[in-house]
Amino acid sequence: MPKKFKRYTITSALPYANGPIHIGHLAGVYVPADIYARYLRMKGEDVLFIGGSDEHGVPITIKAREEGITPQEIVDRYHEQIKKSFEEFGISFDVYSRTSAPIHHETASEFFLNLYKKGDFIEKTNQQYYDEENQQFLADRYITGICPHCSYEKAYGDQCENCGTSLSPLELKNPKSALSGNVPVLKETKHWYLPLDQYEEWLNDWIIKGHKDDWKVNVYGQVKSWVDHGLKPRAVTRDLNWGIHVPLEDAEGKVLYVWFDAPIGYISAAKEWSKKTGNDWIPYWKDEDSKLVHFIGKDNIVFHCIIFPAMLKAEGSYILPDNVPANEFLNLESDKISTSRNWAVWLHEYLKDFPEKQDVLRYVLTANAPETKDNDFTWKDFQARNNNELLAIFGNFVNRTLVLTHKYFDGVVPAIIEIDAEAKNTLEEMKLFPGKISNSLDRYRFREALSELINLARLGNKYLTDMEPWKLIKTDEEKVKTVLNVSLQIVANLAVLSEPFLPFTARKLQNMLGMTPPKWADAGNAEILKSGQTINKPELLFARIEDAEVEAQVQRLLDTKKENEQMITVNPAKEEIAFDDFMKMDIRTGTILEAEKVPKTKKLLKLKINTGIDQRTVVSGIAEYYKAEDIIGKKVSILVNLAPRKLRGIESQGMILMAEDTDGQLCFVSPTEDVSNGSEVK
Ligand SMILES: [Zn+2]
Repeated sequence: MPKKFKRYTITSALPYANGPIHIGHLAGVYVPADIYARYLRMKGEDVLFIGGSDEHGVPITIKAREEGITPQEIVDRYHEQIKKSFEEFGISFDVYSRTSAPIHHETASEFFLNLYKKGDFIEKTNQQYYDEENQQFLADRYITGICPHCSYEKAYGDQCENCGTSLSPLELKNPKSALSGNVPVLKETKHWYLPLDQYEEWLNDWIIKGHKDDWKVNVYGQVKSWVDHGLKPRAVTRDLNWGIHVPLEDAEGKVLYVWFDAPIGYISAAKEWSKKTGNDWIPYWKDEDSKLVHFIGKDNIVFHCIIFPAMLKAEGSYILPDNVPANEFLNLESDKISTSRNWAVWLHEYLKDFPEKQDVLRYVLTANAPETKDNDFTWKDFQARNNNELLAIFGNFVNRTLVLTHKYFDGVVPAIIEIDAEAKNTLEEMKLFPGKISNSLDRYRFREALSELINLARLGNKYLTDMEPWKLIKTDEEKVKTVLNVSLQIVANLAVLSEPFLPFTARKLQNMLGMTPPKWADAGNAEILKSGQTINKPELLFARIEDAEVEAQVQRLLDTKKENEQMITVNPAKEEIAFDDFMKMDIRTGTILEAEKVPKTKKLLKLKINTGIDQRTVVSGIAEYYKAEDIIGKKVSILVNLAPRKLRGIESQGMILMAEDTDGQLCFVSPTEDVSNGSEVK
């Protein structure tokens, strides 16, 4: 028998506040967590649904340096943007906090001190690179040098981005500080470590033996592999200025490692909620009757299944997660979603192109959720699921039912006078759906649950089509009353059961039916709507998505891909030159007066150019790209003080400026507005 819990503490991975939120985040973590929280609330359960921004760590300090602003300014910007995206997509957090909040700094410091006082950490001193000019230790990302494997010159202290090898800063040849450009020195530094190896046996009992049957296979397998390979002590502090200062006297310039402070953020968020609402947070974190569930992506499994539980276990007063239903990754059009390559569908951009279609995205991301393996989001699939499922099945059934009720009975719910076999069977089948959907949701099978919801709409759609009330109305009005009553009850059930998945649609539908916010227990009832009750005029729940709309999205991605490819192959910048060197070049705008092919050559054109100063001959290697007759009259830029050279016996006086792309394609560098010949380019 599964344990009966008194309350639920649901957390969702804290998004890192150095960029906006994309569909991969939503599909992997926030939509399933939200469905689960909404479902439990509808069942009348006591739920605390926690979210927040993860605002510490080195990547944020690097981004701040690049933009010339403070880390706080970076996280303020993205915290607000992320929070807004979640609100817009109906992610129903009870609290959305942030790790730069004072309450989190207090909570995390206290947590560290508790463990420190109990002697749960080990202290170790090691050698680390130090920038003497800036007087600080260097995080791995702040050290660059030559990769020992591929000789790439800009490898980072933790990784070479050219060959992908993981590195330690000491392996780099010619290390340099990214802060000052100086050669860093090695200096001793002390850090505190959580001895994870001491928790192996306990993890073995608790997860490997204890959660073999109720945790997802992908999660269980990853944890088992980590534990089987043996765990090592892990540093919980590091030398950095941005973060939560280590609350010890001999720890100046040290902060808690971001992976240590971030999960404590779930606890801090509960405290913040407590302050705001006056509710007690303690039972949600310390009472054995509370069920703790972490929603995360697969990259976070080790932190939520091994490290954070070990921290909680060490502290001793907190409950452990009952389940960690981590998802795999969502890809986009067969390619890995990437922030740096801009290969993503950003939530704030999606809503600009598809206003008020939050539920369509929630639907597609759930129907195609990467629950057991990586999955692919494609715009074609997005369109097909909207048009063929939401619109053709769900929307169509609801709309036909409501329109016919208004047409035949002025919007009044008709009574069933005498129930027939079809009606009875259909209602019996309808009553099975709440149980099926609950059963899937209780086991974190959100795709399966959603497909049952659509099956309920399918049941209604088929019933209505089979009964053909539009024909029956001519001969048997009594029977039409039965058909529409049954159909309306199914619509009302959809209005209840769709709420966790499609909250905006459910609310709209409830309003059309004149329903008050329903409870989960209302579903399965064949008399949600009473006969004689009036329903409102129907509005369309879903609209067709046209080919042009998804083609535009695909085109945008193709453009991004092209840009990325060019970024990769474009030649690096040449050596720096002095301003005076640049000023030696005399570049003018001119016009091509005459052009002819140089005989017996493939590439050369002989041009006569009006430079504003004079008319002169220039030989240019552009014949493969331009025909002589097409370029007469063309405005060009010309370097006029280049020493003359003889090409195929013709003296060339100057050089026409051409842009050459990565494929070797040439094009003129011409003024975009009309300027007179001889204008100086500088
Ligand atoms: Zn390398």
